[in-house]
Amino acid sequence: MSAGTALITGASSGIGEATALHLAERGWTVVLGARRLERLDDLVARIEAAGGRASARSLDVTDADDVRAFVAAAVAEHGRVDVLVANAGVMPLSPLAALHVAEWDRMIDVNVRGLLHGIAAVLPVFETQASGHVVTVASIGAHEVVPTSAVYSGTKYAAWAITEGLRQESEPWLRVTTITPGVVESELATTITDDATREAMVAYRAHAIAPSAIARAIAFALEQPADVDVNEIVVRPAAQRPRSSDG
Ligand code: NDP
Repeated sequence: MSAGTALITGASSGIGEATALHLAERGWTVVLGARRLERLDDLVARIEAAGGRASARSLDVTDADDVRAFVAAAVAEHGRVDVLVANAGVMPLSPLAALHVAEWDRMIDVNVRGLLHGIAAVLPVFETQASGHVVTVASIGAHEVVPTSAVYSGTKYAAWAITEGLRQESEPWLRVTTITPGVVESELATTITDDATREAMVAYRAHAIAPSAIARAIAFALEQPADVDVNEIVVRPAAQRPRSSDG
């Protein structure tokens, strides 16, 4: 029997991929979304080969209609949705003075609008079920700002605030969790186009931990009894102190 149906955005690499593998191992049916469908198809095959249940659909979280269709397809296939892991994100860090305006817009579109589109798509479903769980993958950047992180941190502060607002406004049957990772191995830093920032990040990210550490934190939040809402989990590398630039 399935532990429930969990939708994961940004499941084609890093934290989303690790979360898909870990939740599937623990008996969750996982529904995977990202733009690189071939990566998702490969992940579905790996999960199914290990005896798990998974499906995938191409997804661009910046498109509200596409996110709605992603959730509707999951409801059509599985009859319900228990969890949204709003994980898709980009981090093209740069100093504001570099004026990478298109990258600022991209971060806002993916990290903020993408989260809102996910909430808008699942809330009506959760309302019908009178149950549901939204897990937002934010960042240490939701609590701290360093040079080059102004816009990225701004989007993560926003993600933190939106998730906390959702918690405050919701009925007790809705559970809401913010996951706040420190530096984690993934493809995230590959979105940095600013040369000096990219070079600086190599040293900052040297002590990154495996994305499975974040997957375990997400599973912990999901698998609590229905009357227990784990609101935030901060997971940093043990070596990540003092803070430098955390992803
Ligand atoms: P990755 O770059 O490995 O993964 C990002 C995922 O987001 C990919 O699957 C990518 O898939 C997806 N994505 C990007 N844009 C879109 C889009 N428009 N629509 C749908 N999916 C999209 O990085 P991480 O695993 O590290 O990132 C996951 C989350 O964790 C992000 O929100 C990030 O901010 C957060 N985080 C990461 C930290 C780290 O150190 N790694 C630290 C703190 C927070 P595709 O390109 O196929 O669409």
